[in-house]
Order: sequence, then C-alpha cells, then structure tokens
Amino acid sequence: MSDVRNVIIIGSGPAGYTAALYTARASLKPLIFEGSVTAGGALMNTTDVENFPGFRDGIMGPDLMDNMRAQAERFGAELVPDDVTAVDLSEQIKTVTDSAGTVHRAKTVIVATGSQHRKLGLPREDELSGRGVSWCATCDGFFFKDQDIAVIGGGDTALEEATFLSRFAKSVTVVHRRDTLRASKAMQERAFADPKISFVWDSVVEEIHGEGKLSGLTIRDVKKDEASKLPVTGLFIAIGHDPRTELFKGQLSLDDDGYLKVDAPTTRTNLPGVFAAGDVVDHTYRQAITAAGTGCSAALDAERYLASLG
Ligand code: FAD
Repeated sequence: MSDVRNVIIIGSGPAGYTAALYTARASLKPLIFEGSVTAGGALMNTTDVENFPGFRDGIMGPDLMDNMRAQAERFGAELVPDDVTAVDLSEQIKTVTDSAGTVHRAKTVIVATGSQHRKLGLPREDELSGRGVSWCATCDGFFFKDQDIAVIGGGDTALEEATFLSRFAKSVTVVHRRDTLRASKAMQERAFADPKISFVWDSVVEEIHGEGKLSGLTIRDVKKDEASKLPVTGLFIAIGHDPRTELFKGQLSLDDDGYLKVDAPTTRTNLPGVFAAGDVVDHTYRQAITAAGTGCSAALDAERYLASLG
C-alpha cells in the first residue's frame, strides 16, 4: 500500500497545474495525474493565446502549458502522464487508481479534469482547429476582423458567440439544425436585431473545406434535402460541452448538465477534502485565466483543510 499523500490532483490544464504550483510551494508534495493523451489540457490544441495576462505579445498554447508544468515541477510537484481510472473519495483517506491498477492514497483530492467541447465529427475539423475553426469566440474572435463567420448551434452560447463576433466580423451566419432556437428570448431578440447576423434554419454542416486554412462549408438543408456552399473563413462550433465527470458520478454532486457542484466562492465539493476547479465546474467563463484562478483557490482550500486536520 502506498504512503498517504497530502494532495492528489487529477488533471493538467491551467487549473491542475496552478493547483500543483501552489501546493508544491506549500511543501505539500502533490502528485498530479496529467492524463495519458492530452497532458497540458485544452490549450495544447490551440495556437496563439493573446488573453493570458503577463504575455504582452501573446504565447502559443502549448508553450504556455509547458511553462506552467515546468514551474510546478521546479517546486517539487510530481507529474505523471497517466489517467486516473477509478476513485473512492468517501473516506477521510481517499484512493485514486491509475491505469496500471496501482492505488494511490491521499488526504485531499483536487479535481481539475476540464470539459470537452462537442465536435461536429467531420473530417478536417481537428486539422483546421486554430486555422479558422474555433470553439471560443472570447478567445479567438479578435483574429476574425472583417471576415465572414459561421456559428453553429441554437442555444444561449451560440447566440452569445454570434453577438460577440458581430463586433469584429463582416457577417455572422448562424446555422441551426431546427427552425426554432433554444436560446433565451432576450438573447434571440438581441441577435435578430443585429444587422450583421443572419440565420440559416433546418440546416447542418456537411463538409468543412480548406487547405491549411478554412475556406468554406457545405451546408445541407435537412427539410429540403438540398446542399449549398457557405464561403466563410471562420467557423465557431457552439453545440455544447461535456464536463469530464464520469469518474465521480455517484460520489460527487453534479448539476443537471453534469458539472461538479462546489460551495462557491470556495472550491469545496460535497465531500470533505475533495475540491474542484476549472472548466469541470464552470460553464460560464471557461477561460484559461479563470481555470488557473480556481486552481489556486482549490490549492489554498486544500491547504486549509489539511491544517484543520492537525
Ligand atoms: P483542461 O485544460 O481541459 O485540462 C483538463 C485536463 O485533465 C486534461 O489534460 C485532461 O487530459 C485531464 N484529465 C481529464 N480526465 C482525466 C483523468 N481521468 N485522469 C487524468 N487526467 C485527466 N482560453 C483562454 O483563456 N484563451 C484562449 O485563447 C483559449 N483558446 C482556446 C482554444 C481552444 C481550441 C480551446 C479548446 C479552448 C481555449 N480556451 C482558451 C479555453 C481554455 O483552454 C480552457 O478554459 C482551460 O484549458 C480550462 O482549463 P482546465 O484546467 O479546467 O481544463
């Protein structure tokens, strides 16, 4: 049986690495499971990050994450590029099982597993990510000044993205698979009143085009069964996110959308000694800086909890 750790952190995005940095500097010798495929988190799949404070000229997503990782490691964080496959968080000593079946024990666990944006599932979608295809208007809208953009989706997020993008874009076309929107009335009214925003109803994206850079879409009207071309250089996919909470079901409280519930403004979950940070909790802001911020809070909450154990 392994020694009992002070802290185990699950996840290696801005939330996990920030929690690692803080708990390492507090001499808590954290063990971090980074994930086997996507160590470094969502920003490993992007190019320029221009809105993380401290980088005047911006920084590439993977470079930012390498820096965060190295900074945590410098203070003694132990980083393992492996997946957690099971947890038992109910007792005072929690257990976390890795992919080899080894059981690790800890007094506190910080969950920072992030969320996965839903994809259209089309060829070229990943290849053109960061090259015209995006899932975040706040992050990337600025790169699309005076361009023609499509937004896919019909909920609040899609219309919020469309309205935000219309500040920069030449035109924004919202493509929705039905003829009514799920978005709130207020959001709909704002979008309908915006002269730069138009709607294509009952339609889905069938193909994404572009060599090295997005050049357009093929759209299919599912009622008329007709295909047409939409020449856009920006595609924002806003069809939802899935928080990575499968492991925690039945132990940690989740909201209706599957996000972990915390006792805000703290990062405490429903179980003592278990804290959660970043996009696995947050369906509102979903930014690297907010994930890093709550990762810091989780580390401080864990530190205080450990101190209270005496
Ligand atoms: P994530 O970054 O998602 O990291 C979670 C990590 O947990 C992953 O590495 C995953 O592998 C790991 N994990 C999950 N389950 C397990 C498990 N069972 N065991 C071990 N590890 C596990 N934000 C900005 O502020 N500016 C930008 O310019 C920007 N651009 C973006 C571009 C793209 C393409 C995307 C997708 C997002 C962008 N964002 C941007 C949003 C930002 O990346 C996220 O808000 C942020 O990464 C969330 O951090 P996180 O730590 O909560 O989770």
